[in-house]
Amino acid sequence: MKLDATDLRYITSDEFRVLTAVEMGSKNHEVVPTVLIVQISGLRNGGVNKLLGSLAKRNLVAKVQNSKYDGYRLTYGGLDYLAMRALSKRDSMYSVGNQIGVGKESDIYIVANEEGDEMVLKLHRLGRISFRAIKEKRDYMGKRKSASWMYMSRLAAQKEWAFMKILHEHDFPVPRPIDQARHTILMEFIDAYPLRQVSELPSPGALYSTLMDIIVRFAHAGLIHGDFNEFNILIRRESGQPIVIDFPQMVSTSHLNAEYYFNRDVECIRTFFRRRFNYESKLYPRFKSTMKDGAAEEGDGFRLDVVVAASGFKKGDQKVLEEYMETVTKETDNVDGEDDSEEEEESGEESEGEAESGKEEEDMTVESHTQADKGKGRSDVEDVHP
Ligand code: ADP
Ligand code: MG
Repeated sequence: MKLDATDLRYITSDEFRVLTAVEMGSKNHEVVPTVLIVQISGLRNGGVNKLLGSLAKRNLVAKVQNSKYDGYRLTYGGLDYLAMRALSKRDSMYSVGNQIGVGKESDIYIVANEEGDEMVLKLHRLGRISFRAIKEKRDYMGKRKSASWMYMSRLAAQKEWAFMKILHEHDFPVPRPIDQARHTILMEFIDAYPLRQVSELPSPGALYSTLMDIIVRFAHAGLIHGDFNEFNILIRRESGQPIVIDFPQMVSTSHLNAEYYFNRDVECIRTFFRRRFNYESKLYPRFKSTMKDGAAEEGDGFRLDVVVAASGFKKGDQKVLEEYMETVTKETDNVDGEDDSEEEEESGEESEGEAESGKEEEDMTVESHTQADKGKGRSDVEDVHP
């Protein structure tokens, strides 16, 4: 989908007010009744209908004719718009350039600030794939069912932001985080190619060791990347230095299945180096010995899993997101018919276990959904209620 930067600057304040009303309404309604939109926006009835029409024309909302009532839902375009507007109000970004990536669960754009410095905007898209199936099976959303895609995408962005910030502060090779709004994060643009595209290396052993060292450093800080593969490792064009990206699935080394995730990360690198560079080493880190020597103690400030949990991305949110991701992985693997039976089985077992113990309901309140906007995006709501 094209993200139109000019729209960012040329929406009327009434249109914005109505769009925000649809977003607010969709926290409790899959389809927000038009009467509710009118009520929330505080504008005249006839006016709102016209404004909704023009927003629908720009694909920011979509009209839904329900058997019970007519209404609108916020589209991804609408949510993208609100996020980018918040970022641009804060002068974090100014214009949108090309799309450089489409993941299963994200879109990546090059954007720029007013000075023309390039950055990367990652828009999370959880719920794009087979969410219907999940929704029917799972009840962990509680009252939040109606806005699940929005809520999950936002959680993923908040988690990625929290981890990227902490990792960057502790000098891990990750992009510099710049800002976060709703389901998006803004970060430094890395002039690099994914390791996936590298076909030859002068010395594969050197990169192999560097990558294994990063895995060990993560673990010593209480973290496991969880998706440490050739797509999520960028190789800087100039220096050849690896930069690690993509953090929504990071787990703590105290996670029940930490060893499994750790070994899977290590195996990803070993397999890739064997296949691509014909490079194999007897040396690779094992979870237990890695944790035995050099792992930071809880409470000494270097356990980054603990730091992140304390810094705003709550354990309850982690749990909800984790369970969702495990379910989606299972669903999409089934759809794709990929033959990863071994991995699937393991993560399958585990997601059953998590589902059984599914508590944490109390954290899934409207409160947590709007949290990111409290200090930040709120300002643009105020703009239209002077
Ligand atoms: P997904 O969750 O969809 O896998 P990623 O965060 O892994 O999303 O990003 C997808 C792709 O976008 C990466 O493989 C990379 O090519 C590109 N990309 C992501 N972040 C950056 C960045 N900061 N700088 C340059 N390219 C990036
Ligand atoms: Mg990725």
